[in-house]
Amino acid sequence: MLGLDRPLPDSMATLLDGRRLAAAIEQRLLAVITAGLPLAGRAPGLAVLRVGDDPASGVYVANKEKACSRVGIRNLGAHLAADTAAADVLAQIQRLNADPEVDGILLQLPLPVGLEEGPLLAAIDPDKDADGLHTLNLGRLLKGEAGPRSCTPAGVMALLAAAGVDLAGKRAVVVGRSILVGQPMALMLQAAHATVSVAHSRTRDLAALTRQAEVLVVAAGRPRMIGAEHVRPGAVVVDVGIHRQPQGGLCGDVRFEEVEPIASAISPVPGGVGPMTVAMLLVNTVLAWCHRHGVDGAALEDLLV
Ligand code: NDP
Repeated sequence: MLGLDRPLPDSMATLLDGRRLAAAIEQRLLAVITAGLPLAGRAPGLAVLRVGDDPASGVYVANKEKACSRVGIRNLGAHLAADTAAADVLAQIQRLNADPEVDGILLQLPLPVGLEEGPLLAAIDPDKDADGLHTLNLGRLLKGEAGPRSCTPAGVMALLAAAGVDLAGKRAVVVGRSILVGQPMALMLQAAHATVSVAHSRTRDLAALTRQAEVLVVAAGRPRMIGAEHVRPGAVVVDVGIHRQPQGGLCGDVRFEEVEPIASAISPVPGGVGPMTVAMLLVNTVLAWCHRHGVDGAALEDLLV
């Protein structure tokens, strides 16, 4: 258990190591898949649907495909040309919805200009929604019902749980209110009995709010915006942001070198939330496969709030 109650940490912050935890989750996935294969009669299948040639998406899709092959998930995705008509992308999604070999579908964002993501995301079968972003699944999260969970916030929750952070009664602040990260993050923290505030671009005196946080999750998409002045000594800080720096390398929304000495735990960028997002995508896919075939997925269910 991290010492959230003490005023100042005596030493360096615990590193919330997403790479290590994701590797451990992959081992659990491999074990569940191996044990379930005889009953299911086929490996789980994930279809990552990429449209166009956004270069960052290329890296993300490749990472997801590599992670699938490490745990024995079949990659059933497709890469469509940037000028594919919306009706053809929709037809592809409908084909994947109907394909009995496909357990999870992910539409990689952003889409090329001219393609509206809303109707396409809505067309994904909610039970194959590997990203957990379908309206029905966000509703399930809101109501505390089982279902695929949004991967990035679910990954943050798994990181916190693995570090032994007990959220009950804690003051948590989420910076960012996107549907992708901030909103589901706040719901998950609340489900774990934290008292949650959500900050956004119109929040007045952000630092005064974030300094109240015992657990601070930053998903503002603003490179290095959170510094020591935003952080309560001893806080647990999770940095969701990820940015390519002009001088090369990646950075987050948090100025790590400033915040790490005062935090009790902090996630690095890279190697924090990023690998956890991919791991939770696999968890959603494998759990869908378990449900479809009556395979025991109990060994994974603690990973989803
Ligand atoms: P969005 O741009 O959709 O949302 C950003 C949110 O932050 C908005 O709610 C915005 O407020 C708020 N915000 C912006 N500036 C400020 C500010 N100065 N003070 C307070 N709040 C602010 O981003 P996403 O949620 O999609 O992503 C956030 C970051 O996380 C990005 O860097 C993204 O790359 C990264 N990311 C990383 C993932 C990973 O796996 N590691 C996965 C997904 C995202 P408002 O609503 O008022 O505009």
